Amino acid sequence: MRQRVQLHRNRYKQLRIDMNTQQTSQGLERLVFDNKFTRELPADPEQKNFRRQVEQACFSRVRPAVVRHPEKIACAREVAELIDLPEFECESQRFADVFSGNALLDGMDPYAMCYGGHQFGNWAGQLGDGRAINLGEVINKKGDRWILQLNGAGPTPYSRDADGLAVLRSSVREFLCSEAMFHLGVPTTRALSLVSTGEQVMRDMFYDGNPTLEPGAVVCRVAPSFLRFGNFEILSSRGDTDTLRALLDYTLRTDFPHLGNPSQEVYLQWFEEVCSNTAEMVVHWQRVGFVHGVMNTDNMSVLGLTIDYGPYGWLEDYDSDWTPNTTDASGRRYRFGSQGQVAQWNLFMLAQAIYPLIDEPEPLQKALDSFARQYTSGWNTMMANKLGLSEYRPAGDDELIAELLNVLALLETDMTIFYRRLTKISSATSPDASDSELIVPLQDAYYDPAQLDIEVSKKIAGWLRKYIHRLRTDAMDNTQRVQQMNSVNPKYVLRNYLAQLAIDKAHEGDYSMINELLELLRNPYAEQPANERLAEKRPDWARDRAGCSMLSCSS
Ligand code: AMP
Ligand code: MG
Repeated sequence: MRQRVQLHRNRYKQLRIDMNTQQTSQGLERLVFDNKFTRELPADPEQKNFRRQVEQACFSRVRPAVVRHPEKIACAREVAELIDLPEFECESQRFADVFSGNALLDGMDPYAMCYGGHQFGNWAGQLGDGRAINLGEVINKKGDRWILQLNGAGPTPYSRDADGLAVLRSSVREFLCSEAMFHLGVPTTRALSLVSTGEQVMRDMFYDGNPTLEPGAVVCRVAPSFLRFGNFEILSSRGDTDTLRALLDYTLRTDFPHLGNPSQEVYLQWFEEVCSNTAEMVVHWQRVGFVHGVMNTDNMSVLGLTIDYGPYGWLEDYDSDWTPNTTDASGRRYRFGSQGQVAQWNLFMLAQAIYPLIDEPEPLQKALDSFARQYTSGWNTMMANKLGLSEYRPAGDDELIAELLNVLALLETDMTIFYRRLTKISSATSPDASDSELIVPLQDAYYDPAQLDIEVSKKIAGWLRKYIHRLRTDAMDNTQRVQQMNSVNPKYVLRNYLAQLAIDKAHEGDYSMINELLELLRNPYAEQPANERLAEKRPDWARDRAGCSMLSCSS
């Protein structure tokens, strides 16, 4: 009897799949494309796909490479919804075909963008979408514009000496982190899908002469615009003011319509808005402990979206000098504590790029100065929020915060756990308790209990006493304070070792952990008792393991 029921269920499942497959193709076929970028901006006249310098153009048309065996690994339902695709639509083979680049839908007009950039402080000339191919721009039912971009879809005119492909390892990292960041409330490009290609890709993970074959994959990124600072820099560097103006006018019309018709003044307002978008984004990074790892100007979005998830990492033990990027190990240009300054340097490069359209240095300089002010005040407010203070009071709070950062760096302290556990201290906590008693609620945050010696404990407890006194002067009641803190201090982040475990399993053909992490990170601020172990400190084996603490630029 049980067998018969099971058989019946299987048939039912089969039927549903058939129905879904039918609907799926229809769903995909119904996507409405309006390819404004390729329609309104100058195209590279060359149609053939070979590596070259592309001048007086914003993009080159190019078709994604055909891959052997595309298979969907994961799909983010919230992103599918953005383009009006119900989640079940992602189950069909047609979905994997389209989002690996094997099949094009009617209305798509695939292209790679031309951009340049400053890499590690030096002008690098033309870079461009070397492995990214934009498929087209979907207009959803609400009228929003979403550009679909495949990463790892094959060579383009901008691929230089690389292959245009992406490996499973880096694609899992991009897919999961884009969505984790979104759910954390950090501005970011989104990820619709992760599709394996069935191809093998040769990679020398650490540039040490040991290349190996790895499985290939493609992520479909989704964003309202993928314009980077570098799109403007390349045109300016070539003295191509006409195309530069065309591109700026285009983004004003498309992404910043509230600023009105183009004029010198509006160009400045645009720059100011890019400055504030960028300040806001980096303050969020500092809040959640995200290190981008490769903040070159070609990886900076004019919308202030986190873009290009490469050798990024999450702070485990708080260390403002930390960078996950081994390529940057000597200079640590892109370390956690420098991200605000680097953003400003990058904006300076963008200011130089658009200078020919403005012709006056002072207002651009002013905007850059206002970035510094906005960033600092955003950062102060963010820190006050993390501490559960109803406002940032310059007199006193600056010292309290500076001292906190010293205390966090005194010994290996897990940043994420520390802020969650700090809610256990309140205005009702007695400052007269002994040092060790005061520290008890924070103990989980420390990697090595032996580091909690008398000296260190004294300093931590000293800070906690000041914090308790500060809480006593604050109007917010305790319940409210805990709520506020837990809404800005995540319980779950994409710990480097968790992403690596998901990758290890994926290499064995088991994709379950990718989907588990995606589910977990949908609610990063909620207590999820069943997932408590995923909020724990990095295990010791992951301390120095490749992929967990060390990553390289391009993979
Ligand atoms: P990234 O470090 O990922 O920002 O990449 C810097 C530049 O290198 C961009 O122009 C990328 O498109 C290009 N790039 C990175 N990886 C590859 C690859 N496998 N094939 C072709 N171009 C690549
Ligand atoms: Mg890049």
